[in-house]
Amino acid sequence: MTDEAPPITVNGRTYRRPRVPIVGICLDGTSQAYFDAAAAVMPNLQHIIARGAIGEVQAVVPTLTNPNNVAIVTGLPPRANGICGNYYYDAECGAEVMMNDPVYLRCPTILSAFSRAGLTVAVVTAKDKLRRLLGKDMAGVCISIERAEQATIEENGIADVVAMVGRPAPGIYDPEISIYCLETGVRLLERGRIDLLYLSTTDYVQHKHPPGSRDANAFFARLDEIFGQLDRAGVMLGATADHGMNDKVNPDGSPRIRFIEALLREQGFAEARVILPITDPYVVHHGALGSYATVYLDRDHVADAAAALARVEGIEMVLTRDEAAERFQLPPDRIGDLVVLSDRSTVLGRTADWHDLSNVKTGLRSHGGLHERAVPLVCNRGLRPEYARRLQSGAANNYDLFDFLCNGLEA
Ligand SMILES: [Zn+2]
Repeated sequence: MTDEAPPITVNGRTYRRPRVPIVGICLDGTSQAYFDAAAAVMPNLQHIIARGAIGEVQAVVPTLTNPNNVAIVTGLPPRANGICGNYYYDAECGAEVMMNDPVYLRCPTILSAFSRAGLTVAVVTAKDKLRRLLGKDMAGVCISIERAEQATIEENGIADVVAMVGRPAPGIYDPEISIYCLETGVRLLERGRIDLLYLSTTDYVQHKHPPGSRDANAFFARLDEIFGQLDRAGVMLGATADHGMNDKVNPDGSPRIRFIEALLREQGFAEARVILPITDPYVVHHGALGSYATVYLDRDHVADAAAALARVEGIEMVLTRDEAAERFQLPPDRIGDLVVLSDRSTVLGRTADWHDLSNVKTGLRSHGGLHERAVPLVCNRGLRPEYARRLQSGAANNYDLFDFLCNGLEA
């Protein structure tokens, strides 16, 4: 790797080749409030910020895990990369389909472009639902901790994750899984040359514990140890988040839900189909309840249904397909006739029967809407002036992460 090596252009952006390892981290569900409340137990983060930079950036809407991780690794919003949720409704097939297969990705990733340019790339994700999207067309290590024990050289580029880390992989509902994910990254860096490492945690802790709570601070203290290890290893480190997290409850602590499919059907829109793109196999996190929904209707019902939804207390925005596609840069063919966003403390459901609420009876913290859009971006080096201005403006995106890391950091 020398200065003479040509930069890498992918998806309309040009990235300088890293001269030291680049580590991009997506801290699932981490708003700035978590860092602030844990400041006393995060000495390494304080040290990194003092020498480097921190600012607020914008996540993509819907503020969900897969759309934001895919945006980060492509450098593009959903309209261009195609991934706007965990689920969408395929109107041609008349089926609700999961969007975690790489076939749904409409552009290459930065990770695949770097690996094809001869750089060594590695990806570690806590949740397996992201692994194949992140690893599309990429050579190198690509593993999920959820399936660490099943990893093979052929499929994942590594077979001995558990032996390398030195303890069994935690389960998906164990707070430790995110720490294990980051620790795996540290071990990979120690083991051999890596030019670009992407690490993506899971948000079980943030779903269950608010900023400043004992459990949240214990988690962030552990995270801080890893920040310290990475920083001392001399890498260029950049961490952001896929979305924030807010309480979505009534004053009595019960989940504050608007079941909009039931509501529309009661009001005469019998064909209404509501898709909740937050729906995924990890229902203990959120019961498939978030602050974003998309609605499919008969064409001549769209305007009346929009008006009916706009009257519902707790719903703050109802957009037509075209309006939503424009405003949030979403792929029009993968959203419904309407896009609905609820307010900071309200979530959207289909019908009461459709959801399993047993795991969120005593509290619900979730995301998906506009109030989980602001997330931190922290780097362990100072920024070049243009990038410092962009970060301070608050208008940069979380999916600018690799632009910041490759082009924005001072050597
Ligand atoms: Zn997430």
